[in-house]
Amino acid sequence: MSAFVTALICPRCQLQHDPQTIQNLCVACQSPLLVEYDLDRLRTAVSKETISERTPTMWRYREFLPVGDPTQIVSLGEGFTPLLNISSITRAWGLTQVWLKDDGLNPTGSFKARGASCGISKAKEFGIRAVALPTAGNAGGAWACYGAAAGIRVHVAMPKDAPAINQLECRLYGADLQLVDGLISDAGKKIAQGIREHGWFDAATLKEPYRIEGKKTLGLEIAEQLGWQLPDAIVYPAGGGVGIIGIWRALKQLRAIGWVSGKLPRLIVVQAEGCAPLVKAFEEQQPESEFWPNARTFASGLRVPKALGDFLVLQAVRETGGTALAVSDADCARMMRLLAERAGIFAAPEGAATLAAVERLQEEGKIFSDERVVIINTGSALKYPEAMAEALAGQM
Ligand SMILES: *Cc1c(COP(=O)(O)O)cnc(C)c1O
Repeated sequence: MSAFVTALICPRCQLQHDPQTIQNLCVACQSPLLVEYDLDRLRTAVSKETISERTPTMWRYREFLPVGDPTQIVSLGEGFTPLLNISSITRAWGLTQVWLKDDGLNPTGSFKARGASCGISKAKEFGIRAVALPTAGNAGGAWACYGAAAGIRVHVAMPKDAPAINQLECRLYGADLQLVDGLISDAGKKIAQGIREHGWFDAATLKEPYRIEGKKTLGLEIAEQLGWQLPDAIVYPAGGGVGIIGIWRALKQLRAIGWVSGKLPRLIVVQAEGCAPLVKAFEEQQPESEFWPNARTFASGLRVPKALGDFLVLQAVRETGGTALAVSDADCARMMRLLAERAGIFAAPEGAATLAAVERLQEEGKIFSDERVVIINTGSALKYPEAMAEALAGQM
């Protein structure tokens, strides 16, 4: 137990849960639980300067994370990825202060490493022996990887048309992999069955409270790397939306302890045209999304037809004055190529989607020339050979 964790709180019904015992969803209303910290004590226990002197991984922020016993931390060097200025690309659109957070450089080639490192460390601290999760692809690889490093058995279910590379990495890390005819939602049903039958710990997105804490470090790092100044906007490619909820919480916690000040950045969510339930709910001013039928996109991380934390994503976007928009696979492919050719950045299609979004938002007058914008590249192109081929085939 982190010295600073006080409770697990349900954001829907406010019911508190004991953080010393293993928890999944809120026992009253089945919502995701969020970790609360004693920020007053945290503020006096650690300083920006101390953190800046530590090893450059996400665990430099350990006081903001839920693992108390440092010997339980399972780390492969995840986090503290570079924040690269890509204004050489965006200047053509009149934007001179745009950075890309390159989370493709994480272990397993995606930012899922952050969630897996935190989630597996916490599972280890609890003495959990087997975890199970459905995945659209990269989360399976990351949890299989960190499970292997921790000696925890990992059971993964993924759509049988999930990228071959994700299937291979799960097997190579020694995970138990089940392929399912359908989407991540169908893989979820398969996993639920295994959990009932074998008592595995349910590590599905937002069904365990700690993965989001790992992703929170994205927001902490952005603030530190910008010299503890907040940008004007952060653009994020949302599937389940865990990353954006994490960033939102990180920035609010930093503001609460006085390490940053002023308005929070506008949080902007990007989805694929073939699977955009959050965008639809945002446009229709709904508090939650509806299941998106026939979800299709080559950006497999965005192929989430209905997210458990959708209400939190929509709240984050609305409270910060952000927006939500969908881009086409063709635009993702075009931006993959642009990032590679012009900046030497090998971005996953999900990450490339955020650059396509920036181009559109500038055209629509929703991002201005003097604004500081951070986009998140959530994965490496190396995990997407088909998208690479598409980026090469497409006309610029
Ligand atoms: C999982 C994933 C996403 C979406 O992340 P969420 O936290 O589910 O919104 C985006 N990009 C890549 C590369 C991913 O693997």
